[in-house]
Amino acid sequence: MTTGSETPSSTRPRVLVIDDSPDVHRLLKARLKQEEIEIISSESGEAGIVELKAHRPDLVLLDLDMPTMDGFEVLRAIKDNAETVHIPVIVLSGLNSAEDKVSAFDLGAHDYIIKPFELTELRVRIRAALRLNFLLKMLAQRAQIDGLTGLWNRAYFDRRVQDEVARVQRHDGALSIAFFDADHFKSINDTFGHPAGDAVLQGLGQIIQRDSRQSDIACRYGGEEFVLIMPATGPADALAFCDRLRLQIEAVVWPRHPERRVTVSIGVAGATTPIGVTAAAWVEAADKALYTAKKSGRNRVVLTDLLAGHAAPAEPLRKAG
Ligand code: GH3
Ligand code: MG
Ligand code: MG
Repeated sequence: MTTGSETPSSTRPRVLVIDDSPDVHRLLKARLKQEEIEIISSESGEAGIVELKAHRPDLVLLDLDMPTMDGFEVLRAIKDNAETVHIPVIVLSGLNSAEDKVSAFDLGAHDYIIKPFELTELRVRIRAALRLNFLLKMLAQRAQIDGLTGLWNRAYFDRRVQDEVARVQRHDGALSIAFFDADHFKSINDTFGHPAGDAVLQGLGQIIQRDSRQSDIACRYGGEEFVLIMPATGPADALAFCDRLRLQIEAVVWPRHPERRVTVSIGVAGATTPIGVTAAAWVEAADKALYTAKKSGRNRVVLTDLLAGHAAPAEPLRKAG
């Protein structure tokens, strides 16, 4: 899966240390040097909150006793924010009081370590928290990936298309959405068997993913249908790109059935400026264009320019040859 930056990061995990004592920062930096982690330091609760937003750490080590904004307040702020609630927090406290421990865990702390801490113990607890964070991230991502093709799945598409349409309405930019549907796909299954059909779906997914830009979002919509969200791409460019994809797909010789080529029909809906169209209407326009492509003979691209306010299927790109 190469879909952009949203895979769990393979770079070193980032640990944010929030503690008002410079000694603690110095000590941790020195003693955790061998760990495969990147340490960011904040010497107040307020500064920690700023760093948290800027760097999205994988783990927070948090002192409780700090002037102005104390650790409890910082913990509450982390756990009250939907974007940071999943970041594990290990509390480092000089106070060995049961009451403080209970409060910290109640607020959502992952672990609680008493200062002065034992370095080996701190290390294993940091590793355990980072492992948990990594697994949670991976699980969240798996839930959004289609098992057969490795593309984003339908649930992810539904969410992402809302974001992208909202973004294009806010900023002056272009956006296009393309639906791909394999032609007469049922007959591939019927003639060559389901595994051959699966191989075709994997191949189609690979081509769409490989040939689209890093910023494009390739998804399996369901069955033998794919959808490509193309940010910053106007209708004319989307049409040209999709037609190149169509020709490439048509040219593939499939190992399991070299005698049977596979074609796709494509419906594109795009616009170059914000136009006050909802995501649902955008998707519907692309789907309608796909329907027109099917009706008018398959193996072609039909474009709807949303800015023109009407479908333009009158002269669909014709089959090559
Ligand atoms: P059209 O040109 O009108 O799109 O015809 P079609 O045969 O492609 O369309 P239809 O919707 O009749 O059939 C789609 C087929 O896709 C039927 C279904 O069994 C098959 N299919 C859906 N999901 C999968 C899958 O994951 N693997 C395989 N092998 N086949 C699948
Ligand atoms: Mg279909
Ligand atoms: Mg089909």
